[in-house]
Amino acid sequence: MKVCCIGAGYVGGPTMAVIALKCPDIEVAVVDISVPRIAAWNSDQLPIYEPGLDDVVKQCRGKNLFFSTDVEEHVREADIVFVSVNTPTKTSGLGAGKAADLTYWESAALMIADVSISDKIVGDKSTVPVKTAEAIEKILTHNSKGMKFQILSNPEFLAEGTAIQDLFNPDRVLIGGRETPEGNEAVQALKGVYAHWRISSVNAMSALCEATGADVTQVSYAVGKDTRIGPKFLNASVGFGGSCFQKDILNLVYICECNGLPEVAEHRKQIAILGFAFKKDTGDTRETPAIDVCKGLMGDKARLSIYDPQVTEDQVQRGLSMKKFDWDHPLHLQPMGPTTVKQPDFKRIYGNMQRPAFVLDGRNIVIAEQLREIGFIVYSTGKPLDSWLKDMPAVAKMPCTDWRPSLPHESIT
Ligand code: NAD
Repeated sequence: MKVCCIGAGYVGGPTMAVIALKCPDIEVAVVDISVPRIAAWNSDQLPIYEPGLDDVVKQCRGKNLFFSTDVEEHVREADIVFVSVNTPTKTSGLGAGKAADLTYWESAALMIADVSISDKIVGDKSTVPVKTAEAIEKILTHNSKGMKFQILSNPEFLAEGTAIQDLFNPDRVLIGGRETPEGNEAVQALKGVYAHWRISSVNAMSALCEATGADVTQVSYAVGKDTRIGPKFLNASVGFGGSCFQKDILNLVYICECNGLPEVAEHRKQIAILGFAFKKDTGDTRETPAIDVCKGLMGDKARLSIYDPQVTEDQVQRGLSMKKFDWDHPLHLQPMGPTTVKQPDFKRIYGNMQRPAFVLDGRNIVIAEQLREIGFIVYSTGKPLDSWLKDMPAVAKMPCTDWRPSLPHESIT
Protein backbone atom coordinates (compact mmCIF):
# COMPACT_ATOMS: atom_id res chain seq x y z
CA MET A 1 0.00 0.00 0.00
CA LYS A 2 1.17 3.52 -0.78
CA VAL A 3 0.22 6.47 1.36
CA CYS A 4 0.86 10.10 0.47
CA CYS A 5 0.38 13.08 2.77
CA ILE A 6 -0.05 16.55 1.29
CA GLY A 7 1.47 19.03 3.75
CA ALA A 8 4.77 18.38 5.55
CA GLY A 9 3.99 20.53 8.60
CA TYR A 10 3.53 19.95 12.31
CA VAL A 11 0.85 17.38 11.66
CA GLY A 12 1.82 15.79 8.34
CA GLY A 13 5.50 15.24 9.20
CA PRO A 14 5.24 13.55 12.62
CA THR A 15 2.05 11.65 11.79
CA MET A 16 3.44 10.13 8.64
CA ALA A 17 6.78 9.37 10.29
CA VAL A 18 4.94 7.36 12.96
CA ILE A 19 2.81 5.58 10.34
CA ALA A 20 6.00 4.66 8.47
CA LEU A 21 7.61 3.39 11.69
CA LYS A 22 4.63 1.30 12.75
CA CYS A 23 3.72 0.03 9.27
CA PRO A 24 6.89 -1.17 7.53
CA ASP A 25 4.70 -2.71 4.79
CA ILE A 26 3.38 0.73 3.81
CA GLU A 27 5.34 3.18 1.66
CA VAL A 28 4.78 6.69 2.97
CA ALA A 29 5.50 9.88 1.00
CA VAL A 30 5.15 13.31 2.59
CA VAL A 31 4.88 16.04 -0.02
CA ASP A 32 4.83 19.81 0.17
CA ILE A 33 5.01 22.78 -2.15
CA SER A 34 7.60 24.35 0.16
CA VAL A 35 11.07 23.51 -1.16
CA PRO A 36 12.96 24.60 2.01
CA ARG A 37 10.61 22.61 4.23
CA ILE A 38 11.14 19.41 2.27
CA ALA A 39 14.90 20.05 2.11
CA ALA A 40 14.91 20.33 5.90
CA TRP A 41 12.95 17.08 6.31
CA ASN A 42 15.62 15.43 4.20
CA SER A 43 18.47 16.93 6.29
CA ASP A 44 19.84 16.42 9.80
CA GLN A 45 18.09 19.58 10.96
CA LEU A 46 14.38 18.74 10.77
CA PRO A 47 12.10 21.75 10.20
CA ILE A 48 10.23 21.16 13.45
CA TYR A 49 11.27 19.99 16.88
CA GLU A 50 9.32 17.32 18.68
CA PRO A 51 10.81 15.06 21.36
CA GLY A 52 11.48 11.67 19.75
CA LEU A 53 10.83 12.83 16.19
CA ASP A 54 14.48 12.72 15.10
CA ASP A 55 14.74 9.06 16.05
CA VAL A 56 11.56 8.05 14.26
CA VAL A 57 12.55 9.86 11.07
CA LYS A 58 16.08 8.43 11.12
CA GLN A 59 14.74 4.91 11.41
CA CYS A 60 12.43 5.14 8.39
CA ARG A 61 13.69 7.87 6.04
CA GLY A 62 14.87 6.41 2.76
CA LYS A 63 13.32 3.02 3.62
CA ASN A 64 9.57 3.48 3.61
CA LEU A 65 9.40 7.20 4.42
CA PHE A 66 10.12 9.82 1.76
CA PHE A 67 9.87 13.60 1.72
CA SER A 68 9.38 15.20 -1.67
CA THR A 69 8.23 18.27 -3.55
CA ASP A 70 6.99 16.08 -6.37
CA VAL A 71 3.44 16.41 -5.13
CA GLU A 72 1.63 15.22 -8.22
CA GLU A 73 3.64 12.07 -8.80
CA HIS A 74 3.21 10.81 -5.24
CA VAL A 75 -0.48 11.67 -5.17
CA ARG A 76 -0.98 9.85 -8.46
CA GLU A 77 0.64 6.68 -7.10
CA ALA A 78 -1.03 6.65 -3.68
CA ASP A 79 -3.89 4.45 -2.51
CA ILE A 80 -4.58 6.73 0.44
CA VAL A 81 -3.98 10.48 0.24
CA PHE A 82 -3.96 12.35 3.53
CA VAL A 83 -4.48 16.09 3.37
CA SER A 84 -2.76 17.97 6.16
CA VAL A 85 -2.50 21.45 4.74
CA ASN A 86 -2.81 24.64 6.74
CA THR A 87 -6.31 26.04 7.39
CA PRO A 88 -5.59 29.46 8.93
CA THR A 89 -8.15 32.10 9.84
CA LYS A 90 -9.40 34.09 6.85
CA THR A 91 -7.90 37.57 6.67
CA SER A 92 -10.35 39.02 4.14
CA GLY A 93 -13.77 38.39 2.70
CA LEU A 94 -16.85 37.11 4.50
CA GLY A 95 -16.00 35.72 7.91
CA ALA A 96 -12.59 37.47 7.96
CA GLY A 97 -10.98 37.15 11.36
CA LYS A 98 -13.12 34.14 12.24
CA ALA A 99 -13.75 31.60 9.50
CA ALA A 100 -11.23 29.03 8.36
CA ASP A 101 -9.48 29.73 5.08
CA LEU A 102 -9.88 26.58 3.01
CA THR A 103 -7.97 27.83 -0.03
CA TYR A 104 -5.15 25.35 0.47
CA TRP A 105 -7.49 22.43 0.96
CA GLU A 106 -9.46 23.31 -2.12
CA SER A 107 -6.44 23.62 -4.37
CA ALA A 108 -5.18 20.28 -3.04
CA ALA A 109 -8.54 18.68 -3.88
CA LEU A 110 -8.50 20.07 -7.42
CA MET A 111 -4.97 18.74 -7.88
CA ILE A 112 -5.92 15.28 -6.58
CA ALA A 113 -8.83 15.11 -9.03
CA ASP A 114 -6.62 16.30 -11.84
CA VAL A 115 -3.69 13.92 -11.47
CA SER A 116 -5.42 10.73 -10.28
CA ILE A 117 -5.41 7.75 -12.58
CA SER A 118 -6.72 5.29 -9.97
CA ASP A 119 -9.46 5.30 -7.32
CA LYS A 120 -8.36 6.79 -4.01
CA ILE A 121 -9.23 7.21 -0.37
CA VAL A 122 -8.76 10.84 0.65
CA GLY A 123 -8.32 11.31 4.39
CA ASP A 124 -8.69 14.79 5.81
CA LYS A 125 -6.27 15.51 8.65
CA SER A 126 -6.65 19.29 8.59
CA THR A 127 -9.05 20.95 11.01
CA VAL A 128 -11.97 22.03 8.86
CA PRO A 129 -15.53 23.29 9.38
CA VAL A 130 -18.49 20.94 9.42
CA LYS A 131 -19.61 19.76 5.96
CA THR A 132 -16.24 20.41 4.35
CA ALA A 133 -15.82 16.72 3.55
CA GLU A 134 -19.11 16.78 1.67
CA ALA A 135 -18.05 19.82 -0.31
CA ILE A 136 -14.63 18.36 -1.05
CA GLU A 137 -16.33 15.17 -2.20
CA LYS A 138 -18.31 17.23 -4.69
CA ILE A 139 -15.19 18.99 -5.97
CA LEU A 140 -13.45 15.66 -6.44
CA THR A 141 -16.46 14.06 -8.10
CA HIS A 142 -17.16 16.95 -10.46
CA ASN A 143 -13.52 17.20 -11.53
CA SER A 144 -12.76 13.49 -11.59
CA LYS A 145 -11.51 11.95 -14.79
CA GLY A 146 -13.52 8.80 -14.16
CA MET A 147 -11.84 7.89 -10.85
CA LYS A 148 -13.77 7.27 -7.63
CA PHE A 149 -12.88 8.97 -4.37
CA GLN A 150 -13.92 8.10 -0.85
CA ILE A 151 -13.53 11.04 1.49
CA LEU A 152 -12.81 10.26 5.12
CA SER A 153 -12.60 12.67 8.04
CA ASN A 154 -9.63 11.68 10.12
CA PRO A 155 -8.72 14.74 12.22
CA GLU A 156 -5.47 14.76 14.14
CA PHE A 157 -5.54 15.41 17.89
CA LEU A 158 -1.82 15.55 18.58
CA ALA A 159 -0.48 18.45 20.64
CA GLU A 160 2.75 20.18 19.72
CA GLY A 161 5.49 19.28 22.19
CA THR A 162 4.09 15.79 22.79
CA ALA A 163 3.30 14.88 19.18
CA ILE A 164 5.20 11.60 19.05
CA GLN A 165 3.92 10.44 22.41
CA ASP A 166 0.36 11.41 21.38
CA LEU A 167 0.73 9.54 18.10
CA PHE A 168 2.09 6.43 19.81
CA ASN A 169 -0.64 6.41 22.47
CA PRO A 170 -3.64 8.33 21.18
CA ASP A 171 -6.74 8.70 23.31
CA ARG A 172 -8.76 7.92 20.21
CA VAL A 173 -8.59 7.76 16.44
CA LEU A 174 -11.56 9.33 14.76
CA ILE A 175 -12.55 8.18 11.29
CA GLY A 176 -15.74 9.37 9.62
CA GLY A 177 -16.97 8.29 6.23
CA ARG A 178 -20.06 7.70 4.12
CA GLU A 179 -22.42 5.06 5.45
CA THR A 180 -22.36 3.16 2.18
CA PRO A 181 -20.61 -0.12 1.32
CA GLU A 182 -17.81 1.83 -0.42
CA GLY A 183 -17.59 4.29 2.48
CA ASN A 184 -17.39 1.47 5.03
CA GLU A 185 -14.74 -0.26 2.98
CA ALA A 186 -12.65 2.93 2.94
CA VAL A 187 -13.08 3.36 6.71
CA GLN A 188 -11.94 -0.23 7.22
CA ALA A 189 -8.90 0.34 5.00
CA LEU A 190 -7.83 3.38 6.99
CA LYS A 191 -8.63 1.58 10.24
CA GLY A 192 -6.27 -1.12 9.01
CA VAL A 193 -3.43 1.40 8.91
CA TYR A 194 -3.97 2.52 12.51
CA ALA A 195 -4.66 -1.03 13.66
CA HIS A 196 -0.91 -1.63 13.32
CA TRP A 197 -0.56 0.04 16.72
CA ARG A 198 -3.69 1.96 17.66
CA ILE A 199 -6.94 0.63 19.02
CA SER A 200 -9.50 2.37 16.90
CA SER A 201 -12.69 3.95 17.97
CA VAL A 202 -14.70 5.23 15.06
CA ASN A 203 -17.52 7.80 14.64
CA ALA A 204 -17.84 11.06 14.00
CA MET A 205 -22.58 20.25 20.34
CA SER A 206 -26.37 19.82 20.46
CA ALA A 207 -27.91 22.75 18.53
CA LEU A 208 -25.02 22.74 16.08
CA CYS A 209 -25.42 19.00 15.58
CA GLU A 210 -29.10 19.45 14.81
CA ALA A 211 -28.37 22.21 12.30
CA THR A 212 -25.67 20.25 10.57
CA GLY A 213 -27.01 16.74 10.66
CA ALA A 214 -24.43 15.40 13.15
CA ASP A 215 -25.33 13.07 16.02
CA VAL A 216 -24.58 14.68 19.36
CA THR A 217 -24.09 11.34 21.11
CA GLN A 218 -21.32 10.45 18.69
CA VAL A 219 -19.72 13.87 18.99
CA SER A 220 -19.83 13.88 22.79
CA TYR A 221 -18.45 10.36 22.89
CA ALA A 222 -15.49 11.38 20.69
CA VAL A 223 -14.84 14.60 22.57
CA GLY A 224 -15.19 12.91 25.95
CA LYS A 225 -12.45 10.49 25.02
CA ASP A 226 -9.87 13.27 25.05
CA THR A 227 -8.31 13.21 28.50
CA ARG A 228 -7.39 16.87 28.08
CA ILE A 229 -11.12 17.66 28.39
CA GLY A 230 -11.55 18.05 32.13
CA PRO A 231 -9.30 19.05 35.03
CA LYS A 232 -6.12 18.81 32.93
CA PHE A 233 -7.31 21.63 30.78
CA LEU A 234 -8.71 23.83 33.51
CA ASN A 235 -5.53 25.43 34.81
CA ALA A 236 -5.85 29.21 34.90
CA SER A 237 -3.01 31.07 33.17
CA VAL A 238 -2.31 34.16 31.08
CA GLY A 239 -4.26 32.77 28.12
CA PHE A 240 -3.59 30.40 25.31
CA GLY A 241 -1.37 30.47 22.24
CA GLY A 242 -0.20 28.37 19.35
CA SER A 243 -1.34 28.15 15.78
CA CYS A 244 -4.38 25.94 16.27
CA PHE A 245 -6.51 26.57 19.32
CA GLN A 246 -7.37 30.20 18.71
CA LYS A 247 -8.11 29.74 15.04
CA ASP A 248 -10.24 26.68 15.68
CA ILE A 249 -12.23 28.40 18.44
CA LEU A 250 -12.77 31.45 16.21
CA ASN A 251 -13.96 29.25 13.45
CA LEU A 252 -16.26 27.24 15.69
CA VAL A 253 -17.85 30.48 16.88
CA TYR A 254 -18.22 31.55 13.28
CA ILE A 255 -19.87 28.29 12.31
CA CYS A 256 -22.27 28.60 15.19
CA GLU A 257 -23.06 32.17 14.19
CA CYS A 258 -23.78 31.04 10.69
CA ASN A 259 -25.69 27.97 11.77
CA GLY A 260 -23.08 25.78 10.18
CA LEU A 261 -21.29 26.97 7.12
CA PRO A 262 -18.34 27.04 5.02
CA GLU A 263 -18.94 24.58 2.26
CA VAL A 264 -15.96 25.26 0.07
CA ALA A 265 -14.02 28.34 0.91
CA GLU A 266 -11.91 30.27 -1.34
CA HIS A 267 -10.28 29.21 -4.37
CA ARG A 268 -9.70 32.19 -6.65
CA LYS A 269 -13.08 32.01 -8.28
CA GLN A 270 -13.62 33.33 -11.77
CA ILE A 271 -17.11 34.77 -11.98
CA ALA A 272 -18.90 36.40 -14.90
CA ILE A 273 -21.44 39.06 -13.90
CA LEU A 274 -24.01 39.65 -16.62
CA GLY A 275 -25.78 42.96 -15.95
CA PHE A 276 -24.61 45.75 -13.65
CA ALA A 277 -27.22 48.56 -13.85
CA PHE A 278 -30.07 48.45 -11.35
CA LYS A 279 -32.41 47.13 -14.04
CA LYS A 280 -32.38 46.31 -17.71
CA ASP A 281 -32.30 48.88 -20.52
CA THR A 282 -30.73 51.57 -18.40
CA GLY A 283 -27.20 52.68 -17.72
CA ASP A 284 -28.09 53.90 -14.23
CA THR A 285 -25.95 52.18 -11.67
CA ARG A 286 -26.93 54.23 -8.61
CA GLU A 287 -27.73 51.92 -5.69
CA THR A 288 -27.60 48.93 -7.98
CA PRO A 289 -27.47 45.73 -5.92
CA ALA A 290 -24.76 44.58 -8.33
CA ILE A 291 -22.31 46.79 -6.42
CA ASP A 292 -22.91 44.96 -3.14
CA VAL A 293 -22.77 41.58 -4.84
CA CYS A 294 -19.54 42.41 -6.67
CA LYS A 295 -17.87 43.95 -3.62
CA GLY A 296 -18.72 40.92 -1.56
CA LEU A 297 -17.37 38.57 -4.19
CA MET A 298 -14.18 40.62 -4.52
CA GLY A 299 -13.83 40.58 -0.73
CA ASP A 300 -13.68 36.82 -1.12
CA LYS A 301 -10.95 37.28 -3.72
CA ALA A 302 -13.06 36.34 -6.71
CA ARG A 303 -11.97 37.55 -10.13
CA LEU A 304 -14.91 39.23 -11.82
CA SER A 305 -15.66 39.85 -15.47
CA ILE A 306 -18.53 42.33 -15.52
CA TYR A 307 -20.67 43.01 -18.58
CA ASP A 308 -23.61 45.32 -19.08
CA PRO A 309 -24.34 46.68 -22.56
CA GLN A 310 -25.40 50.06 -21.18
CA VAL A 311 -22.70 50.59 -18.56
CA THR A 312 -19.16 51.81 -19.21
CA GLU A 313 -16.08 50.34 -17.61
CA ASP A 314 -15.41 53.67 -15.87
CA GLN A 315 -18.85 53.57 -14.37
CA VAL A 316 -18.29 50.07 -13.05
CA GLN A 317 -14.91 51.06 -11.58
CA ARG A 318 -16.46 54.15 -9.99
CA GLY A 319 -19.37 52.14 -8.63
CA LEU A 320 -17.04 49.64 -7.06
CA SER A 321 -14.69 52.22 -5.58
CA MET A 322 -17.22 54.73 -4.22
CA LYS A 323 -18.64 54.67 -0.76
CA LYS A 324 -22.30 53.83 -0.59
CA PHE A 325 -23.76 57.33 -0.13
CA ASP A 326 -21.42 59.13 -2.49
CA TRP A 327 -24.11 58.54 -5.04
CA ASP A 328 -25.62 61.91 -4.16
CA HIS A 329 -23.10 63.33 -6.61
CA PRO A 330 -23.11 60.95 -9.55
CA LEU A 331 -21.09 61.42 -12.68
CA HIS A 332 -23.04 62.26 -15.78
CA LEU A 333 -21.84 59.78 -18.31
CA GLN A 334 -22.30 59.71 -22.04
CA PRO A 335 -24.62 56.95 -23.15
CA MET A 336 -22.83 54.13 -24.98
CA GLY A 337 -25.17 53.96 -27.94
CA PRO A 338 -27.20 50.96 -29.04
CA THR A 339 -25.73 47.58 -28.19
CA THR A 340 -27.10 44.16 -28.93
CA VAL A 341 -26.99 41.52 -26.22
CA LYS A 342 -26.48 38.14 -27.71
CA GLN A 343 -27.75 35.00 -26.04
CA PRO A 344 -24.64 33.57 -24.38
CA ASP A 345 -23.45 30.26 -25.78
CA PHE A 346 -23.82 28.35 -22.52
CA LYS A 347 -22.53 25.07 -23.93
CA ARG A 348 -19.27 26.71 -24.93
CA ILE A 349 -19.07 28.60 -21.63
CA TYR A 350 -19.66 25.38 -19.69
CA GLY A 351 -16.89 23.71 -21.67
CA ASN A 352 -14.42 26.35 -20.50
CA MET A 353 -15.43 26.41 -16.83
CA GLN A 354 -14.10 24.50 -13.85
CA ARG A 355 -16.52 22.04 -12.27
CA PRO A 356 -18.87 22.28 -10.54
CA ALA A 357 -20.05 25.19 -12.73
CA PHE A 358 -22.75 27.48 -11.34
CA VAL A 359 -25.31 29.84 -12.84
CA LEU A 360 -26.89 32.18 -10.29
CA ASP A 361 -29.89 33.82 -11.90
CA GLY A 362 -30.86 36.85 -9.84
CA ARG A 363 -33.54 37.96 -12.35
CA ASN A 364 -35.09 34.68 -13.37
CA ILE A 365 -34.18 35.13 -17.01
CA VAL A 366 -32.44 31.87 -17.87
CA ILE A 367 -34.21 28.63 -18.72
CA ALA A 368 -32.87 26.64 -15.82
CA GLU A 369 -33.79 23.21 -17.15
CA GLN A 370 -31.80 23.75 -20.36
CA LEU A 371 -28.77 24.82 -18.38
CA ARG A 372 -29.08 21.85 -16.03
CA GLU A 373 -29.12 19.57 -19.04
CA ILE A 374 -25.78 21.08 -20.09
CA GLY A 375 -24.43 20.32 -16.61
CA PHE A 376 -24.70 23.62 -14.74
CA ILE A 377 -25.89 23.85 -11.16
CA VAL A 378 -28.52 26.56 -11.34
CA TYR A 379 -29.87 28.83 -8.61
CA SER A 380 -32.82 30.89 -9.79
CA THR A 381 -34.17 33.30 -7.19
CA GLY A 382 -37.32 31.97 -5.57
CA LYS A 383 -37.28 28.70 -7.54
CA PRO A 384 -36.68 25.16 -6.26
CA LEU A 385 -33.05 24.44 -5.50
CA ASP A 386 -30.74 21.99 -7.21
CA SER A 387 -29.77 19.10 -4.97
CA TRP A 388 -26.30 20.61 -4.43
CA LEU A 389 -27.87 23.78 -3.08
CA LYS A 390 -30.46 21.86 -1.06
CA ASP A 391 -27.65 20.19 0.81
CA MET A 392 -26.09 23.53 1.70
CA PRO A 393 -26.41 24.89 5.22
CA ALA A 394 -29.08 27.52 5.83
CA VAL A 395 -26.82 30.54 5.58
CA ALA A 396 -25.78 29.63 2.07
CA LYS A 397 -29.41 29.79 0.98
CA MET A 398 -29.85 33.39 2.03
CA PRO A 399 -30.37 36.06 -0.65
CA CYS A 400 -27.70 36.60 -3.22
CA THR A 401 -25.37 38.95 -1.38
CA ASP A 402 -24.87 36.18 1.16
CA TRP A 403 -24.07 33.41 -1.29
CA ARG A 404 -20.49 34.40 -1.60
CA PRO A 405 -18.72 32.06 0.83
CA SER A 406 -20.35 29.11 -0.78
CA LEU A 407 -19.65 29.88 -4.38
CA PRO A 408 -17.16 27.27 -5.26
CA HIS A 409 -15.19 27.60 -8.43
CA GLU A 410 -16.66 29.46 -11.33
CA SER A 411 -20.06 31.02 -11.58
CA ILE A 412 -22.14 33.15 -13.84
CA THR A 413 -24.29 35.60 -11.90
P1 NAD B 1 1.66 23.71 8.74
O1 NAD B 1 1.45 25.11 8.29
O2 NAD B 1 2.81 23.41 9.67
O3 NAD B 1 1.83 22.74 7.48
C1 NAD B 1 0.99 22.78 6.40
C2 NAD B 1 1.85 22.53 5.17
O4 NAD B 1 0.99 22.34 4.03
C3 NAD B 1 2.80 23.68 4.80
O5 NAD B 1 4.14 23.23 4.83
C4 NAD B 1 2.35 24.10 3.40
O6 NAD B 1 3.45 24.45 2.55
C5 NAD B 1 1.68 22.84 2.90
N1 NAD B 1 0.73 23.03 1.81
C6 NAD B 1 -0.30 23.94 1.73
N2 NAD B 1 -0.96 23.78 0.58
C7 NAD B 1 -0.37 22.78 -0.09
C8 NAD B 1 -0.61 22.15 -1.33
N3 NAD B 1 -1.63 22.51 -2.11
N4 NAD B 1 0.22 21.15 -1.72
C9 NAD B 1 1.26 20.75 -0.93
N5 NAD B 1 1.52 21.31 0.26
C10 NAD B 1 0.72 22.30 0.69
O7 NAD B 1 0.28 23.25 9.40
P2 NAD B 1 0.06 22.18 10.58
O8 NAD B 1 0.36 22.80 11.91
O9 NAD B 1 0.70 20.90 10.21
O10 NAD B 1 -1.52 22.00 10.52
C11 NAD B 1 -2.14 21.35 9.43
C12 NAD B 1 -3.61 21.16 9.77
O11 NAD B 1 -3.74 20.32 10.92
C13 NAD B 1 -4.32 22.47 10.10
O12 NAD B 1 -5.65 22.38 9.64
C14 NAD B 1 -4.29 22.49 11.64
O13 NAD B 1 -5.37 23.23 12.17
C15 NAD B 1 -4.46 21.02 11.94
N6 NAD B 1 -3.90 20.60 13.23
C16 NAD B 1 -2.71 21.13 13.70
C17 NAD B 1 -2.20 20.68 14.91
C18 NAD B 1 -0.92 21.25 15.45
O14 NAD B 1 -0.64 21.02 16.64
N7 NAD B 1 -0.11 21.96 14.67
C19 NAD B 1 -2.87 19.70 15.64
C20 NAD B 1 -4.05 19.16 15.10
C21 NAD B 1 -4.56 19.63 13.91
